[in-house]
Amino acid sequence: MTNSFAVTRNPTPASDADRARLMDSPPFGTVFTDHMAKATWTLDGGWDDHRVDPFSELTLHPAALVLHYGQQVFEGLKAYRWADGSVHLFRPESNAARFAASAHRLALPELPEEDFIASIEALLSVDSPWVPHEPESSLYLRPMLIGTEPCLGVRPSLTVEYMLLASPVGAYFAGGVKPVSIWVAQGFHRAGAGGTGQAKTAGNYAASMLPQQQAQDNGCGQVLFLDAREDKYIEELGGMNVFAVMADGSVITPRLTGTILEGVTRNSVIGLLCDEGHDVVERDLELEELRAGVARGEVVEFFACGTAAVVTPVARLVSPDFDLTVGEGKPGAVTMAVRERLTGIQYGRADDVFGWMRAVA
Ligand SMILES: *Cc1c(COP(=O)(O)O)cnc(C)c1O
Repeated sequence: MTNSFAVTRNPTPASDADRARLMDSPPFGTVFTDHMAKATWTLDGGWDDHRVDPFSELTLHPAALVLHYGQQVFEGLKAYRWADGSVHLFRPESNAARFAASAHRLALPELPEEDFIASIEALLSVDSPWVPHEPESSLYLRPMLIGTEPCLGVRPSLTVEYMLLASPVGAYFAGGVKPVSIWVAQGFHRAGAGGTGQAKTAGNYAASMLPQQQAQDNGCGQVLFLDAREDKYIEELGGMNVFAVMADGSVITPRLTGTILEGVTRNSVIGLLCDEGHDVVERDLELEELRAGVARGEVVEFFACGTAAVVTPVARLVSPDFDLTVGEGKPGAVTMAVRERLTGIQYGRADDVFGWMRAVA
């Protein structure tokens, strides 16, 4: 049975004018809506107190487990405004399932999938005016679980809070899609066998920040991680999966090894490319093979994908040993076609042949 999230309305919501000002091209993830959804878990009582409250800061004990040992998982998905004014989610049941799998890995209680979706619907029942109307904009949704018990002992928290935040975001590429340069991480890995690589958890991001800084110091926008065991296979970027497009139209993406996060976008892109007649191969891809393929003109496009930026063309692969331009160094045809088809489905412009969209408001 799905729990209902009881709504307590914010007594002082943003005025229409304030909301319009706040929603005018905010930097990613800096503006939040009037409300947030919550639920509380205790060992004895299980999940309880499902609710939508006015957005507020937290009161957290300084010894809360999450602050010391990082017992946390999160999700990221978007609500899209269609031209007719309606609001839709993209494959939210996939995010719900991944949220539960991540929670399991972090020894956190799983929030039932139907409650995950009910929390989004309840939040949007009061905050749908925050779903922007501009092209390529959306309301970014951030569900998370944190261990809240005050305890410096290393063990799973006996109290856990679920929270769902919503943040209006503008087009990721204001002024047109721009290709990104990526830096191949030197001496750092994102995840190892048996670790937390396939869970969406804060610690993976914490570990990616220093290599990400080095990427920036080398003029690159993103960092590409190789596998930890052999330091030779391509895995993914800090928060995006990757694809290589070959001259013959076939496409290669690293297979899921347990150290790669399975993106909903990755899975959708595979489905769309197959539907367009591309041969999509999930397999190990060595950096050396990619380098040689790019140099010989066999790899003609390379792109990254994830919820935030959708599909991002990669123009350059950089390391201390090489600096390679992929294809012509501009967004490729296959990359841009799959981007257009995916955003077309998300914004209701293209036929939803896979039944991915779910109307919510
Ligand atoms: C969230 C995430 C992705 C992309 O997943 P989507 O479901 O497509 O947004 C890829 N890699 C990592 C490490 C991630 O955390």
